[in-house]
Amino acid sequence: MKLQVENFEEYQKAYQYSVENPEGFWGEIAENFVWKKKWNKVLDWNFKEPKIEWYQGATLNITENCLDRHLADKADQPAIVWESNDPNEANRTYTYRELHQEVCTFANVLKQNGAKKGDRICLYMPMVPELAIAVLACARIGAIHSVVFGGFSAQSIADRIQDAQCSMVVTADGSHRGNKEIFLKHIMDEAIISCPCVKTVIVLERSKSAVSMIKGRDLFWHSEMERMRSLGLTDCPAEEMDAEDPLFILYTSGSTGKPKGVVHTCGGYMVFTAYTFQNIFQYQSGEMYFCTADIGWITGHSYIVYGPLIQGATSLIFEGIPTFPDAGRFWDIVDKHDVNILYTAPTAIRSLMQFGLDYVKDKDLSSLRVLGSVGEPINEEAWNWYNEHIGKGKCPIVDTWWQTETGGILISPLANITPTKPCYATLPLPGVQPILVDEKGEEITGNGVSGNLCIKFPWPGILRTTYGDHERCRTNYFATYEDLYFTGDGCMRDEDGYYRITGRVDDVMNISGHRIGTAEVENAINMFTDVIESAVVGYPHDIKGQGIYAYVIMASTPKDPVLARKDIAATVSQIIGAIARPDKIQFVTGLPKTRSGKIMRRILRKIAEGDINNLGDTSTLLDPSVVDKIKEERL
Ligand code: ATP
Ligand code: MG
Repeated sequence: MKLQVENFEEYQKAYQYSVENPEGFWGEIAENFVWKKKWNKVLDWNFKEPKIEWYQGATLNITENCLDRHLADKADQPAIVWESNDPNEANRTYTYRELHQEVCTFANVLKQNGAKKGDRICLYMPMVPELAIAVLACARIGAIHSVVFGGFSAQSIADRIQDAQCSMVVTADGSHRGNKEIFLKHIMDEAIISCPCVKTVIVLERSKSAVSMIKGRDLFWHSEMERMRSLGLTDCPAEEMDAEDPLFILYTSGSTGKPKGVVHTCGGYMVFTAYTFQNIFQYQSGEMYFCTADIGWITGHSYIVYGPLIQGATSLIFEGIPTFPDAGRFWDIVDKHDVNILYTAPTAIRSLMQFGLDYVKDKDLSSLRVLGSVGEPINEEAWNWYNEHIGKGKCPIVDTWWQTETGGILISPLANITPTKPCYATLPLPGVQPILVDEKGEEITGNGVSGNLCIKFPWPGILRTTYGDHERCRTNYFATYEDLYFTGDGCMRDEDGYYRITGRVDDVMNISGHRIGTAEVENAINMFTDVIESAVVGYPHDIKGQGIYAYVIMASTPKDPVLARKDIAATVSQIIGAIARPDKIQFVTGLPKTRSGKIMRRILRKIAEGDINNLGDTSTLLDPSVVDKIKEERL
């Protein structure tokens, strides 16, 4: 079966076949890739333990699919185009041939320094091509990468290194993001004090800031690469991996609690990321694809590195932030590189919207063909702005719903194939079987209903375990409802069978017996003039059971806050109904966000409840001072 569906009818056919005969479907899709040895059995599974094995008996190396197989016909095509934080620094481009050689050479650096199959290697780096090279070099030799986002503190890194018992670290001297420099090596030095498992540290020179280098432990990237070249070690055979050998560990972003070390394996992850990338974005050969995520998050793993490279795409890597040197940076990049596909997050769109259209108006965005969104529900206002001002009404928006644990996108429109609707992730990908259940786990059938979103059958990209703690994996995802994977998200299925994510189940409020999603109320609040962003939580209320507490960021401080509150409440009443009127509205200047840009509603809920001394794990917060301010001004 060919990898790509090309119209809605083909999508429906593929979907039907994938449900009737999942093994047949995924077996045929897998024929599109390079394997060292084919499978004996496509799938073996139970959600009880859980035990999930795809492509049993098969062997492969994912980098042969990302690199070697393109050497025949795409060797001189750019695989990676890199844009620096500094708009005046020259771009760097790696063709598939060059990337192949860099990956092989760095794979030899790892090997020569003792790394071998199964070892865990922590990558703590800026968004430079060398990060992608390091990721692929680990995969080349069968070492398990654990990428830690380059904004985390020493303590957060140490926790992750210890949890995975990494023996090696790859980092850089420093990283520029906007006007700030982050001293990565210095932070890493502090982390390693409590990590005796780390024996070798490889340091890329990027910011040219002074670093301490310890003899016998620390090595410079460039001199090691030189050494390999002088030894003639620029080729490296791809390690033969079992389809179920771990490929990487990645910690979740921690919006709902302590981050979990999600484990993905080689075969299923490869098939699923490539399949979803190709179908959702409908990538056409030669196009420029720009995903603005950081490689430190799952979006960067699956849709900057693996998915696009497996499909032979040109993937643009951007080192900086959307607002440096000004709020037009994304549009400058689209203009300069003729970006065809742009994949970003609602938090970025909202933050750019507030700067107005001045930063958009003179930019040539005519190259854009497809827009994507990921990370949280995209509110209607942001959706419309993205559609009108960026896509000029002619680019489909693919609102992609998925999780670190799912490896790839599960519910999303396919560009130019699935009719879109603002705020809707629309329909499941072939091979994905969503189901809505009530609190007791009873299936809610039919359309025009809402419930807790579960998936009833495995797909190749599903997590296999949480590192070092399989029981945690079971209790978190497979124990809430028997024989179902529980996503933790609340969801509505409308009359057309379209899915809309309404927020975390823990965040769904029960107001006088009505279940109301936080995303729904936030969406309505954000429609109010001058509102930039909002977050809504439930809190105990004597009469209603739960009341609605809203935290709202305004573009300018309201002159009459009492009236502004009433106006916001009236707006919500008008859009959803009186039942969803917020009981309390606190104006704030910032919201507690994770480093991946997600609101930590868990903390806001505690503050609304008055439980301010016990906020739980806040190690993944971007700016803890925001929380103190909100606490002080709580209503
Ligand atoms: P943790 O699991 O540690 O709390 P996290 O869930 O924020 O962290 P991720 O795996 O990065 O970590 O995020 C997945 C979640 O993001 C989903 O469960 C969902 O709540 C939200 N999400 C992602 N994409 C979308 C989308 N397109 N629409 C709605 N929600 C989305
Ligand atoms: Mg999660």
